[in-house]
Amino acid sequence: MILVNVSYPHVIFRFVDKVVAAQVEPGPRARSNDRAVLQVLEDRPQLTRQQIVEATGLSRSTVADVVARMVSAGRLAESPSAPAGRGRPAQVLRLADPQGLLLGLAFGHNNLAVAVGDPSGQILRERAVDASVDHDPLKTLDLALQVSRELLQEEGSDLDDVAHVAAGMPGPLDHEGVLQIPSLLGNGQIMEPAKALRELFGRPVLTVNDTVLGAYGEMQVGAARGVDTFIFVKASHGVGAALIVGGKLHRGSTGLAGEIGHTRLSGATGRCRCGNVGCLETMSGIEGLARELPAPYGQDSLCRPSVGDPVVDRVITDAGRSVGATLAPICNLLNPSLIVTGGLLGSGHAEAFVKGMREGIDGSTQPAIARAVDVVPSALGIRVERVGAVLLARREALAASSQL
Ligand SMILES: [Zn+2]
Repeated sequence: MILVNVSYPHVIFRFVDKVVAAQVEPGPRARSNDRAVLQVLEDRPQLTRQQIVEATGLSRSTVADVVARMVSAGRLAESPSAPAGRGRPAQVLRLADPQGLLLGLAFGHNNLAVAVGDPSGQILRERAVDASVDHDPLKTLDLALQVSRELLQEEGSDLDDVAHVAAGMPGPLDHEGVLQIPSLLGNGQIMEPAKALRELFGRPVLTVNDTVLGAYGEMQVGAARGVDTFIFVKASHGVGAALIVGGKLHRGSTGLAGEIGHTRLSGATGRCRCGNVGCLETMSGIEGLARELPAPYGQDSLCRPSVGDPVVDRVITDAGRSVGATLAPICNLLNPSLIVTGGLLGSGHAEAFVKGMREGIDGSTQPAIARAVDVVPSALGIRVERVGAVLLARREALAASSQL
């Protein structure tokens, strides 16, 4: 029985509205509005109502309705933002946490990092180990499973408690997770890393190029927070990039966008592992640079963080200049406001590498476009990929539970 209190009709209307809202499925227009709001929060950690209005183009009242409905349904969470100056902190909205732990795997050419995150994406445990990813990828995948189990066990959990896994591989992967340079990963021992990981872990594993993890980590919690259009460049044993355009990861028509390491440089003659001659990677990757260093120096001086050696710095600045010149036409096309550098060279030798990048961009880009773009090292250093992997796993877990 519904009690009608004639003195306070608005109370009843509100009550009836709530009952109706709970019982009636939203129509196509409401569902489309819901999707628009969820999508803008997909790649941005948190937004105010006003920022959602601006990002979606929906009216203020529509956004208020959608937010109210989704907060009460447990799909969005609301909390005060960190105080910025005086005054009351604004309320910010973010996607509600998924159910379960998150697992991130970051494979390099010679190393592996595993991280376990809580449902909000905070890292609980992490470990980096040496691994022969290039030469013995099958053994490396087994090692990834072993380290994952160990970390989960230390948390009193196991794989059954994991909602989603995300992995980054040091090679070009298409949208289906199929490797597109057969000479990588043990000369084609693993051509479908996504499938191999799925079978090994017994659960869905999003598998992307390692630069995608870096870009996502920087966008969510690093140097590119709130930046709409930027490029993440990883310079390590390989050289690659990931693009964020209009606040979204841009993976291209087949998933391979950002393969700058295989751009041919004039005058370069070295044979690349992709089969071509003169790729940027043959001159600016660690193996190529190590060949340039005089005798007392070896690869170690590039792989360990900078100690301010002027010879090493000079070689790395030259590498940064080549990468910057290669990115210049992409800057002319995209007009980004930021480039973030990562990897053993881009973050371990950040000062020398960024200096060269700056010179390369300034020398080959339209001046106003060059002025518009900052070049900064990764805020998360070499951890950025494992952090990005856990956050991507969170996004996939939310998508799997139909929140996106
Ligand atoms: Zn190549």
